[in-house]
Amino acid sequence: MSKQVRVLVTGAGGFIGHHLTKYLVEHGYWVRGVDIKEPEYEPTPADEFSLLDLTRWENCLQATEGVDEVYGLAANMGGIGFIENHKAEIVRDNTLMNLQSIEAARANGVKRYLYTSSACIYPGYLQDKTDVTPLREEDAYPADAEDGYGWEKLYMERVCRHYTEDFGLDTRVVRFHNIFGPLGTYDGGREKSPAAICRKVALASGDDEIEVWGDGEQTRSYCYIDDCVEGIYRLMRSDHRDPINLGQDRMISINELVDIVSCIAGKTICKRYDLTKPQGVRGRNSDNTRLREVLKWEPQISLEEGLDRTYRWIADQLQGHVDRAVAVPMTVTS
Ligand code: NAD
Repeated sequence: MSKQVRVLVTGAGGFIGHHLTKYLVEHGYWVRGVDIKEPEYEPTPADEFSLLDLTRWENCLQATEGVDEVYGLAANMGGIGFIENHKAEIVRDNTLMNLQSIEAARANGVKRYLYTSSACIYPGYLQDKTDVTPLREEDAYPADAEDGYGWEKLYMERVCRHYTEDFGLDTRVVRFHNIFGPLGTYDGGREKSPAAICRKVALASGDDEIEVWGDGEQTRSYCYIDDCVEGIYRLMRSDHRDPINLGQDRMISINELVDIVSCIAGKTICKRYDLTKPQGVRGRNSDNTRLREVLKWEPQISLEEGLDRTYRWIADQLQGHVDRAVAVPMTVTS
């Protein structure tokens, strides 16, 4: 019988890390999950789960001990509102945890290390109009990454390359483009646009208006979580070491996103624009040529299908809060 592969998922209490943990356990891996918090919405299926702060060296050593592979998903991050307003905190925490995690993996003889980068590494000058050309991996240079969060990601991509070339640690680097789905943060300030819009639409009554950041004409592509996890796994199993995009290549505006979610909810929603709120780059889309070539695969789940599942999950969560709020006083008075 072949030996069971032992893997570490960092950030296993977070959105993508939790989904990935479920996928890997289902595929027969022994999984250690590490995070500073447990998954918020359901228990982890990890074989072992440790609450560890990976900005500390001794915790990185403990986390990477005795595993064959590391999936590095831990990060201090959030949507555009969060990353534009917490640059020092993001750069400090992510530099500490990523650099120490990869060094600890090397010191512990880990064979393969996956680093989760972002479309935020792409230069601002290629994303200044709504009908932007999809971004190819080689467009990353000359660099002009998203201030703070994006520069740290770009730097860590290079660290991975150096660790492969100089230390022989096999690395994979994936650049996510707006991943969304159930079990993702939908309130509290760190949520991304699809979850925020689902929440606002779910809370709105029939013909209410919701607030949209900017003029709503900014464009993005969105990738459903199940496709993201499948792509991560295929990349880890491939022999491709250079950075690769993982996203959908259907670009839509935020206004269109609101309209799709409103349609799913069966509501007529008006938009109120707040031009003072952060919007990020004007347009962004993923060029998936390399993804198709390398993985012989591309994301399968349509935006409508993914948003339908996500909207229903968020609406259920919000309904659960209402039910609990109603139930509490009844319990007290009875
Ligand atoms: P997430 O915030 O849901 O998960 C990150 C997890 O890291 C959280 O559970 C958090 O508690 C944990 N963490 C933070 N600080 C830590 C510390 N000091 N020690 C240990 N754990 C710590 O985010 P996600 O969406 O699951 O993102 C996973 C990875 O993918 C990150 O590297 C992120 O930058 C990257 N990424 C995500 C997206 C996206 O659309 N979700 C896009 C681009 C890149």
